[in-house]
Amino acid sequence: MTNDGVMLDIAKLNVHYHDFQALNDVSLKVRKGSVVSIIGSNGAGKSTLLNTIMGINKPTSGDIAFMGPSIAGLEPNKVVARGISMSPEGSKVFEKMTVKENLLMGAYLPHARRKVNNSLEKVYELFPVLKEKAEQDATYLSGGQRQMLAIARAIMSDPQLLLCDEISLGLAPVIIKDIYRKLKEVNHAGLTIVLVEQDVRRSLKNSDYSYVILKGKIVMEGKSDELSEEEVADAYFGVNKYTRF
Ligand code: ATP
Repeated sequence: MTNDGVMLDIAKLNVHYHDFQALNDVSLKVRKGSVVSIIGSNGAGKSTLLNTIMGINKPTSGDIAFMGPSIAGLEPNKVVARGISMSPEGSKVFEKMTVKENLLMGAYLPHARRKVNNSLEKVYELFPVLKEKAEQDATYLSGGQRQMLAIARAIMSDPQLLLCDEISLGLAPVIIKDIYRKLKEVNHAGLTIVLVEQDVRRSLKNSDYSYVILKGKIVMEGKSDELSEEEVADAYFGVNKYTRF
């Protein structure tokens, strides 16, 4: 990690899908212990950014440094081994596996496997419903429970940085609130978090620092409690001074 506490340092990242440029000179920093949100509408490039950090997408140019060294272009299992994990968009779980088996899949790397019992205890304490349903197939879980399972599975790899892709998608407000409360708990326990969200108010409320992404470009950033919801919404929709594309 650098002296100023920056854990993740992304510099001038460009990502293409064939001729289409999905990320355009994206630079951002995540400080250790913080919650950072990436706010943007459908298709803004949020998932592409998280997938590129995880090594699922490969950058065309630019750098991603994590705790010092570059991880740009590493294979996903190497990225996980370095200490980053992701709860993917759409709370994807392995339907035909039990809840416990899903969780164990998150701890497949040697260093996580050594701590597996400890980690299981930790996630069961965080989401008691997963303990109750440990032996049931994931296919029987509700939407909220699936999201909890996806987050818990990511935590099972014992990461230092957790990436959460649209955890509120399709869930009832009361469930979303509960999940954000749990994320705050794990953040206070030391885990650094990057959240991707479409909801401006929710993003600002649940993070320390925010970036707004529009058509693959960061168009605004600042401390979440200092950004105005209206200005962020303007940036998000590309109105006024942000319409330069
Ligand atoms: P969403 O919330 O809809 O997932 P997002 O902000 O996460 O939106 P991305 O999924 O990163 O956006 O998509 C960014 C842009 O890249 C979009 O224009 C999308 O159509 C395009 N894109 C994403 N994946 C691919 C792909 N595999 N091939 C071609 N284009 C893609």
